[in-house]
Amino acid sequence: MPRKIMTDPKRYLITSALPYANGLKHIGHLAGAYIPADIYVRYLRAQKRDVVFVCGSDEHGTAIPIQAMKEGTTPQAIIDKYHEAMKEDFADLDISFDIYHRTSSPLHHETAQEFFTKLNDAGELETKETEQFFDEATKTFLADRYIKGTCPNCGSDRAFGDQCENCGTTLSPDELINPVSTLSGETPVKKKTTHWYLPLGKHEDFLREWILKEHKDDWRGTVVGQCKAWIDGGLQSRAVTRDLDWGIKVPVQGADGKVLYVWFDAPIGYISATKQWAIDNKKDWKPYWQDKETKLVHFIGKDNIVFHCIIFPIMLKLHGDIVPANVPANEFLNLEGDKMSTSRNWKLEMRDYINDFVKKENGGGQMVDALRYYLTAIAPETKDSEFTWKGFQTAYRSELSDIFGNFVNRTFVLMHKLCNGKVPKLHEDILDENDKILIADIEGTKGEVQSALEYYHFKDGLFQVIDLARKGNQYMQKKEPWIVAKALAAGGDEAIAAQAQKKIDNCLHLCLQLTANLAVLVNPFLPNTAKKMLHMMKVVDKMLDWENAGKIKLLSVGYSLREPELLFRKIEDSEITEQIEKLKAGLIKETTGNGQQATGNKQPTAAPEKTNVMSKPEIVYEDFAKLELKAATVTACEKVAKADKLLKLEVDLGTEKRTIVSGIAQHYSPEEMVGKQVVVVTNLAPRKMKGIESQGMILTAEDSDGKLQLLKPENVVAPGSNVS
Ligand SMILES: [Zn+2]
Repeated sequence: MPRKIMTDPKRYLITSALPYANGLKHIGHLAGAYIPADIYVRYLRAQKRDVVFVCGSDEHGTAIPIQAMKEGTTPQAIIDKYHEAMKEDFADLDISFDIYHRTSSPLHHETAQEFFTKLNDAGELETKETEQFFDEATKTFLADRYIKGTCPNCGSDRAFGDQCENCGTTLSPDELINPVSTLSGETPVKKKTTHWYLPLGKHEDFLREWILKEHKDDWRGTVVGQCKAWIDGGLQSRAVTRDLDWGIKVPVQGADGKVLYVWFDAPIGYISATKQWAIDNKKDWKPYWQDKETKLVHFIGKDNIVFHCIIFPIMLKLHGDIVPANVPANEFLNLEGDKMSTSRNWKLEMRDYINDFVKKENGGGQMVDALRYYLTAIAPETKDSEFTWKGFQTAYRSELSDIFGNFVNRTFVLMHKLCNGKVPKLHEDILDENDKILIADIEGTKGEVQSALEYYHFKDGLFQVIDLARKGNQYMQKKEPWIVAKALAAGGDEAIAAQAQKKIDNCLHLCLQLTANLAVLVNPFLPNTAKKMLHMMKVVDKMLDWENAGKIKLLSVGYSLREPELLFRKIEDSEITEQIEKLKAGLIKETTGNGQQATGNKQPTAAPEKTNVMSKPEIVYEDFAKLELKAATVTACEKVAKADKLLKLEVDLGTEKRTIVSGIAQHYSPEEMVGKQVVVVTNLAPRKMKGIESQGMILTAEDSDGKLQLLKPENVVAPGSNVS
């Protein structure tokens, strides 16, 4: 029988993927697993829910000693360095973990060993003897990465036991030609070794029932789809131990030199983090992992789906713990037309953004919110999406600043100018249709945002908040309190003047209540903005309680408010250009193999990565609506002297005639243009070409032969008809 979808859980346990402590993390990670989790948690906290938000550094696995070799230091030094750096990055971007723990802590080692022992004692693990490469010089079994040789596919001598750095082929050490140990340079030998395995196949029925039936509708389609592919592909047993000296010792006698495989110990890190949080806060951690009324949600990127939806849930089930209620995994974020890549240095690290924007004089919380805003607005919730610097600037300016910031600023300025800096009265007797619609919008938006957040549609939730601000602007535009005030200032009948002031009062009263609502609603997304708004309204944090959303009496009549502060500073074009140049300058170009020592060198992987087909960043409807498009009829046309590509056209727009210069001379003759209908962009700034001012632009499409084809209405319409 399907389990009930939890609508009102007793408590929440929210996790963000444990970042691997071998390097700094970029904004793709931030967009995938941290910002959405933080929004969700802040929303739950505003609802006074019992919620714990855990994360920490993942500090085991082969890549740590490899990174240590590269940097010429010890594994411990590597994890200490990156643990601290990542912790600081998250704190600087206001990711509000209740605890940021680490898997090298003794508490975690103990927790992971206990976990293994419980499963092993219950007979849930299998042991198998296999042959593995062994370096006799250093007396160690070699992880795949520690073996290099010649690639059987491309012949490069820069192939590792797991992958060829040149052609990108996935390999096993057995496939390498002339394998050698990277530790000693000696040829490794095959030696027998015993390992413990988790037989995933035994749990296929559980997975099918739990994911493919119970959660087929409430989990993201991309997540269910990936799980189904894994399950249908056949679930193999997976080794949970390996021969390595960096990690958590296998708690079995005679298992010297063996540690828990990092994929096994890392997710247990969520549990040990919860334990540490409970110790620090004098709480009991057990209900968070063992009580069925706890809602567990894992926030991750799509590369982690199999671990969080298949392997870890099996481990949890065997251990007697709860399984996740949801795993809203995100797709990937690309950067300026290409995949983010650490090896090619095509990335934007959180630290770089923090240094260039947040820590600057002109930065701080508003620039934290700027990044949180854009990464949520373009969140790769259902498909890969793309970060572009221009897109960042445009979204910030046209949505956050021009719509949200502008509304709040206008409201405060007018309230100071027309209402003595105090919250004016609401005169219920003269409420008109526009007032009533606005009140309904305020009351209704709460539900919209809430249901978006409950279903992990963060992008949509944020859109609803901005949309409310947009409605506020439209309302003010209709009410025009400044014009009413002018009439008032002109003097005249006292009764009329009193009526006019009442109108102004109502408008600003409602705009102020809307502003207070915006603070409550935007708080989970942009906490710094909400805080600044509280300061302007001179109210306490408690106003941000979610229960206040949708109320129109948040600010008391007669209460005096502060002068407005700029919520969002301008982002200059030069700042954007600088970032684009920096990104391009840092790109490490693909190189061909040169036989250099592979371990520890700075050669990037040269696996050919396909460049994405460039597409422009997503825009909102308002961006599109800025264009004025009209149908027009061409009334005259001639060639432009000394320009073989240009035609000069005269077009009839119904109410006016305009001159347009268009680069279609090689595709259309002047004679055939006359009488044709075209689509014109009429609000484009005029531009001079060959001395002629062009007062618009004609739309064309390019066919496969490179010939331009005019865009025109299917049937003739009246000149000047709107195109939308
Ligand atoms: Zn190769």
